[in-house]
Amino acid sequence: MRRAGFHISIAGGLSKVLPRAQRRNCTALQMFTSSPAQWAVKPLDAAQGAALAQSLAAADLHPHFVHAVYLLNLVSPDRVLRGKSVRHLAQELRRAETIGAAGVIFHLGSVGPQGKLAAGVPRLARSLQETRERAENVVPLILENSAGGGGSLGNQLEPIAEAVAGAASAEPLNFCLDTAHAFAAGWPLHTEQGLEGTLERLETALGLERLALLHLNDSLFGLGSHRDRHWHLGRGKLGGKALRRIVNHPRLAHLPLIMETPGTEADDRRNMRLLRKWLGEGGAKPA
Ligand SMILES: [Zn+2]
Ligand SMILES: [Zn+2]
Repeated sequence: MRRAGFHISIAGGLSKVLPRAQRRNCTALQMFTSSPAQWAVKPLDAAQGAALAQSLAAADLHPHFVHAVYLLNLVSPDRVLRGKSVRHLAQELRRAETIGAAGVIFHLGSVGPQGKLAAGVPRLARSLQETRERAENVVPLILENSAGGGGSLGNQLEPIAEAVAGAASAEPLNFCLDTAHAFAAGWPLHTEQGLEGTLERLETALGLERLALLHLNDSLFGLGSHRDRHWHLGRGKLGGKALRRIVNHPRLAHLPLIMETPGTEADDRRNMRLLRKWLGEGGAKPA
């Protein structure tokens, strides 16, 4: 059975993660380790972290990923903000190690509306290397593509690839393809040809072996809109036919799928049922 799940809330504590994931029939998951809109981080209790890792493993729920806070800006011209972002991401890598996570997914940030993208590339490479030095572990850093707009660096593959190539000491460096972000950024994932072309570009720029997972989201807004709004599978502008093609593509079929769709537990359960149907696993229970 394909590894698939949701971004699971940690509201109320780490012990809530497993039952929430199980109610959604997850076989993989993603989580924050602290509030995504705050720099302040409560220390993560090592025993609690180990207990979570153990309970997820016992429930055959893997891989589990950490998503870093949204505030990070690893390419900012503002040195204070960039430094803070590096320290936070390094801390996130250590927390991910404590809970046995498969990697930390993060947004790259923006050079600002007046900034030059070209100046952001070496800053990103430096930020990645500084993060790895501080963290002193080998938990994968997973760069996520963005919907773009406002000087955002993550909406084109080439600058990301250039930064990755310039940050050899920060390895392992992996990539998370968010389908909604890619589509909103203008990557034509809605057609068969567009998907093939995107995979070719990914292969050339980064190497498909760097892909660690897909963020499987439909998009409320259209191709090239640069508006980041995740939507329910098959109900957005990307659409069910395209998403079904993506999850079943032979070059992507080994990847865990994490949905970041909005709404309630009932919405999540419906999205999961639809995904399992697309995968030809309708009605199946985890093996
Ligand atoms: Zn993200
Ligand atoms: Zn995402």
